[in-house]
Amino acid sequence: MKRLKMVPALILALVVLTQAQPDPEQKGSKMEQLMGMKKMDVHMHIKSDQKYLFDFMDKWNFKFCSVVTSAKGFRDIQGQIDNAKKLVGKYPRYYAWITSFDATTFESEGWAEKVIAQLREDFKNGALGVKVWKNIGMEIKKANGEYLQLDDPVFTPVFEFIAAQGKTLLAHMGEPIHAWMPTYFTKEGVGRNYWAKRPEYSFWDKPDKPSYSDILAARDHVIERHPDLRFVGAHLGSMEFDVDEMITRFEKYPNFAVELGGRTRYFMWQAKGKVYDFFMRYQDRIMYGTDRGSSLVMSDEQKTETYKELEYRNSLFMRYYATAEEIPWGNIISGDRPRPKPTYKVSALDLPMEVLEKVFYKNAVHWFPGIDKDYK
Ligand SMILES: [Zn+2]
Repeated sequence: MKRLKMVPALILALVVLTQAQPDPEQKGSKMEQLMGMKKMDVHMHIKSDQKYLFDFMDKWNFKFCSVVTSAKGFRDIQGQIDNAKKLVGKYPRYYAWITSFDATTFESEGWAEKVIAQLREDFKNGALGVKVWKNIGMEIKKANGEYLQLDDPVFTPVFEFIAAQGKTLLAHMGEPIHAWMPTYFTKEGVGRNYWAKRPEYSFWDKPDKPSYSDILAARDHVIERHPDLRFVGAHLGSMEFDVDEMITRFEKYPNFAVELGGRTRYFMWQAKGKVYDFFMRYQDRIMYGTDRGSSLVMSDEQKTETYKELEYRNSLFMRYYATAEEIPWGNIISGDRPRPKPTYKVSALDLPMEVLEKVFYKNAVHWFPGIDKDYK
C-alpha cells in the first residue's frame, strides 16, 4: 500500500526534476556560474560513506560539512564522531565535520572537564566546531525540575574553551515558532508532519513547557556573554519565519551568523523585497546548508532516490537564489518530511554573483575556519 502511494510522488518528483534542471544553453548565466563554482553545504549528516554523495559533489561542485548531533534517531555521539573522523581523514576534499557532546549528563561529577577533554581530542582530529541541539531548552531537566537552558552556567567553561580554541558553536535551539502554534494556524502545515511524528517537540498545547521566546532569550544571552565565540544559528537560528528577527540579532551581535539548514522555503513566504534586502545587507552572515545526508543502512533504491532528491532540492534552491525565474513551489504533507510539490510559483531572488559567492562558499570559510581544507 505504501509502495503504491509512492509511485505518483515519484513520477511527480521526476517531472519536477526534469523541469528543475538548469538550462545548459544559458552560457554565462548566474545559474551556470553558481553550478560551476566551489560551494559548501555546512549542514549535512553523513552517516555512511556512499558513492552517490561523491557523484553529487563532483557534478555540482560541493563540499559537505557533516554535523554530529545528539538527537533521537541518530546513533550515539561517539559512533558519529568515529565515523566523521574516518570520512574526513580519508576524503578531506569532500568532507569537513562538526562535533557535539552529551548534555544529558550535565549534572554528573566533572562533566565540563570531561566534555572539554573530548572536544580537545575532536579539534585535534579536525572538528571545526561544536553543535548543540534543541534537547537543551526543550527536553533536559535539572534536578529542581526546571528545563536546562543554554545560558545555564554549567556550559560556561565549555563555551569559553571553544572560543579560546578559535572554534565555532553551531546551535539548533528551539523549533520554528510554528511548534508553539496550533497546527491549523500554520501555513501549509509547516512542519506539521514532523511534529505529528514527534509530538514531544510540538509545544502549542503544553503550557508547562518553555516558550519560544524563553529558549531564544537564553540562546541570545550566550551570544552576548561570549563576544569572542563565533556563534552560528542552525536553521536560520529558528527565526526562519521573519527576517526581522535575524536582523535584530545581527545588529546586536557581531559574533552571530546563521546557516539555512534546509529552511529556504520560509524565505519564499515572506515579502520578496524584504528578503532580497536582508541578503544584500547581511551577505556576510548567511551560509548555505540543506540538512540532508545519508543513512546508516541504505538499499540501492534508496541511494538512487536520495541522489535524485539532492539534485532536485539543490537545483531548486540555487534557482531561487540565483535566477529571476518563477519557480514552481509548494509543500505536501506526506511521509516523514515535507516533500516539495509545485502548487504555486515563487518569484526568485536573483542575488548578485558576489553575494552568491559569499552565501555558498566564502562565509563558510570565515565562520568555520579550515572548512576549505583541500578545497580552496
Ligand atoms: Zn540537521
